[in-house]
Amino acid sequence: MYRATFSVIDLRAFAHNLRVVKERIQAGTELLVTVKANAYGHGVGPIIQVLREEGVRAVGVASLEEGLQVRACGYDGMVLILGSVGPQELAVAAENRIDVSYTDTWGDIAQLPKMSRSLRVHTPFDTGMNRLGFKSIEDAKVVIAQIVKRPDMEWAGVSTHLACSDGESDAHAVEQVERFVGMTRQLRELGYQVPRVHASNSGGVLRNPKWNFDMVRIGIVAYGYSPDEYVLPAPELQPVMHFYSAITRIATVTPGETIGYGATFTANKEMRVATVAAGYADGYPRVLSNVGKVLVHGVLAPVVGRVCMDQLMIDVSHIPTARVGDFVTLFGIEPPAAWTIEAWNARLPADRDAWLVETFAQARNVQRNVLSLSDVASLAGTISYEMACQVNPRVPKLYA
Ligand code: PLP
Repeated sequence: MYRATFSVIDLRAFAHNLRVVKERIQAGTELLVTVKANAYGHGVGPIIQVLREEGVRAVGVASLEEGLQVRACGYDGMVLILGSVGPQELAVAAENRIDVSYTDTWGDIAQLPKMSRSLRVHTPFDTGMNRLGFKSIEDAKVVIAQIVKRPDMEWAGVSTHLACSDGESDAHAVEQVERFVGMTRQLRELGYQVPRVHASNSGGVLRNPKWNFDMVRIGIVAYGYSPDEYVLPAPELQPVMHFYSAITRIATVTPGETIGYGATFTANKEMRVATVAAGYADGYPRVLSNVGKVLVHGVLAPVVGRVCMDQLMIDVSHIPTARVGDFVTLFGIEPPAAWTIEAWNARLPADRDAWLVETFAQARNVQRNVLSLSDVASLAGTISYEMACQVNPRVPKLYA
C-alpha cells in the first residue's frame, strides 16, 4: 500500500447484518443474498466466504459469468441468475448447477439442446416492474407446460420483483403482491405444483413480512443500508464499506482566488483548503464538485471546486486541528485514532495493510462519527447501491 486511499470492508458488520435479516424473516423462509456486481462492489470472494460461514444457502447474480465466479469461490448452495440469460448459456448453467430465470430470448423450449444435468428454471412474473417476466397467466402457462415436460429441466421457482417496496407509500407494492398472489393461485388451480415463491427485496423485508413467501432476495440491507433511510430506517444495520483517503496539502486561499478546474469556486474570505488524494477515478463522483462533504476529525468539510480525476479539495477553515497527513472519511465511520501520518510513514508499504486492518478492528467497537454512504449518494443525486459499485478497482480493499 503506497497511496493512502483505500476502502475497508467490514466483514463482521456484514455477518451482523445477515443475522439482523434472519431475525426479521420467519423460520423456514429461505434467504437469498444478492452478490451481483462483485457483491455490490464489496468483493465477491470474501463476501461469499462469510455467506458460507453464516449458512446462507442461496445467492443471486446478474449473469452466467458472475455465477461461475461464485462457483469458483467454492460456493455450493443455490446460485440464481436474476436477470436475463441467453439460450446458448443454458447448458453451461446446468452443468454448474446455476439456476436461471426464464428469458424471452430462449424461443421454443422444446427445441433447446439436451442438458447434461437438470436445468433449474425460475419463472418471473411481471406484476408492475415492466422489466422481466410474464405479464399474463396465458403466456406463463405455455412456457411452464414446456418446462415441466422436459426431463432435463426442473421448475424451481416463481418470482416477481417489487418496484416500489421502499416507496413513501406501499400502494404500488401491495398491488404487485396482490397480482402475484393471484397469478400463483391461478397456476395452482390449473393443477400445477407451484415451486418456491419469491418476491421481496430489501425494501420488502423491511416493510412487510407478508411479502416474504418461501424465499426473500436481499442485497443492500446485507451491505448495511436501508434502500431508503428516510422511508424505512433500519438503525440496527451496520455499514460494511468505508472509504478513506488522506490530506496531502493544506493551503491558505485569499478572497478572490479560485479553486480547481474551471475556477467554479471563488473564495469570498480567507480559507484553509485541504487537498485529498481521491477523485472521480477512485469512485468519488464528479457531480459532488462544490456539493460533497468529507468527514475530517468528526466534522464535515465541504468539497470546494471541481472533483479532479485523482484529487479533490475541501474547506477545512472551521477545522483548525486538520493537518497534512490526516486520514479523512469519504463515506463510512471516522478513521481510528491510531491512523496518524507518523504511524503510516513509520511502516513499510508492505506492512500497512495488516496494521490498518488490525487498528480498524480494534477501533470498531468505539462509538465514532459516521458519514453515511446514503447521505453522500443523495448529495450526488444517486443511491448507495451505485456509489458502492463504482468505487474503482484501483482503490485497494482491506478486509477487516
Ligand atoms: N431481486 C432482484 C431480481 C434484483 O434485481 C435485486 C437487486 O437489484 C434484488 C432482488 C435485491 O435488491 P435489494 O438490494 O434492494 O435488496
